[in-house]
Amino acid sequence: MMRGKYAMKNKLYEHVLNIQGVKHPITNYDGLTRARDYILAQLDNLCDEVNCEEFTIDGFDKPFYNIDARIGTDEHGPVLLLGSHYDTVYNSPGANDNGSAVAALLCLAEIFAKHRGKVNLRLLFFSLEEGNPVFDDILINTSQTMGVKDSKGFYTTLAYQNDSRLFQEAFANARKKAVSFGEKFKTAYESVKEQISPQMRRFYEVCLSECIKYKDPMGYGERALNGSSRWVERHRDELTECLGIINFDPVAYASSRPHSHPMPPEMMSGVETFNIDMEKESGNFIVAIGSPGSNLLSQSYLHGAKKVELPYAFVNAPFNYEETAYAAPYLLLSDHAAFWKQGIPALFLTDTGGEMRYFFEHTPADTIDKLDFDFFEKVVLSAEFAISQLFGLER
Ligand SMILES: [Zn+2]
Repeated sequence: MMRGKYAMKNKLYEHVLNIQGVKHPITNYDGLTRARDYILAQLDNLCDEVNCEEFTIDGFDKPFYNIDARIGTDEHGPVLLLGSHYDTVYNSPGANDNGSAVAALLCLAEIFAKHRGKVNLRLLFFSLEEGNPVFDDILINTSQTMGVKDSKGFYTTLAYQNDSRLFQEAFANARKKAVSFGEKFKTAYESVKEQISPQMRRFYEVCLSECIKYKDPMGYGERALNGSSRWVERHRDELTECLGIINFDPVAYASSRPHSHPMPPEMMSGVETFNIDMEKESGNFIVAIGSPGSNLLSQSYLHGAKKVELPYAFVNAPFNYEETAYAAPYLLLSDHAAFWKQGIPALFLTDTGGEMRYFFEHTPADTIDKLDFDFFEKVVLSAEFAISQLFGLER
């Protein structure tokens, strides 16, 4: 296609194959370390600078690492950030979520290493997007000790499972009634506690004792997005001239089956689409979500998508972080939210994962054989196009 003989999709496949596997602080801490080392080894010789930045979580003894790799310097114009996370939930190999994003960034590093001196990129690989080890320890270990879940993470009785569904529903409804994650949890718990079994009540009280501290409306920087939130806090002042962040999470699942991606009209109103068959509702398009101020990033990406004939749905979000957390929290489901919160332009690329399309997300079935590498390659080629355009490179 555009790249002559460079077989990008073979490279994407190789990276996903190498990176898939559970990477979680409680169930496989070594997996996190191995993934970190794989990324560092791949970046070696491609970048001007690679920093592996340690951070810690109160109440947990092992450290975590964000990787921040630079190609070019601030002398080459305003910086463009590219984002991914490399951790997984406790039981998922995470081929798509978020092995796909790591593979995408590694391919982009290889491509733009050849343009050193003409671009200014920071490739970010975050840890702990998915969770908080203290809270996850309650969900995994305390739940077992209390007998509500088994060693595989399943509720031990149907009654407990039904209680948890009741709670989840109440939690979703609490979104508009409370300002912080902790208060939402409390509101949800109060509304169901008379209806659930005594053992589940005790379990939710332990959860609540931890998460009542979480002050952000989405629990970000606390319940989740721990790596990216810390990175933004640490580097915010360096980003005075910044084009923003393009964040990938996850980006490699597509389906041509009819109705594989439901498109309720109320959800699609105000959404700009390209080459999507609204009748057929096939999940063969990328979703791009732009924060206020991200127009330059979004337009560059969408231009690239048109060039490679990648169907898309684009949401140009008008609200600041707090308003979005209240009105449309599903626009904030990844690390770009930590940047949105700080007013840094953010473009989020996603196949929407388990929300609308990829039901293997956050399950042991998120494996490489599910992914569509033709679709995935177009997602990355569009990003390559956007980056080239933003830095005025000849293509
Ligand atoms: Zn993810």
